[in-house]
Amino acid sequence: MKLIILGKPSSGKGTQAKLLAQKLNLKHISTGDLLRHELKLKTPLAEKVESYMKTGSLVPDSLIIELLKNNLPNDDYILDGFPRSLSQAEELEKIIKIDLVIDLFCEDDLIIKRTIERRICQSCGAIYGLTVPSKVPNVCDKCGSSLYQRPDDNEETIKNRLDVYNNETSPLIDYYKSKDLYFLVDGSLQIPEVQELAMKKIATIK
Ligand SMILES: [Zn+2]
Repeated sequence: MKLIILGKPSSGKGTQAKLLAQKLNLKHISTGDLLRHELKLKTPLAEKVESYMKTGSLVPDSLIIELLKNNLPNDDYILDGFPRSLSQAEELEKIIKIDLVIDLFCEDDLIIKRTIERRICQSCGAIYGLTVPSKVPNVCDKCGSSLYQRPDDNEETIKNRLDVYNNETSPLIDYYKSKDLYFLVDGSLQIPEVQELAMKKIATIK
């Protein structure tokens, strides 16, 4: 089974992808992880991709597709963070057959709120926020250290990232709907509820 998980930044898709991978015994594949793997091996491809990333420019689709081609396993997996655009989806279709696309849909307002409220423990890395706040403001429940906010977690940055998502990635919704592969889950629900809905749907395609 080959799944794709879609979702805006801070939609919780990374968390869901991990949980679903565990439950269904799938590999959890993110392009970031693949890239780090290639970088460790110091492949020529990794160096090319890295040179784009260093300058902050978008990595061309052809390189990302090459990265996937070299690394996608034959067995079952869930793809997290790819495709990000229509052209990437079309390229992907040439190399694999997707069984289901799960979209963890959240309104922009909720994403912005979640991002601004996110706090991270500076010593143990625990994450707190809108759905799971710390008991005492700015103090970690687990280790008592103080919490900080990531510099990227501000309104302006998240709005820019949402613009990119809404322009580049949202067209995938209609694309996968037309292929009858699209499944929407309300991303504002709690983590276990989201998981249950996704699992139920997946059970129908096995
Ligand atoms: Zn802590």
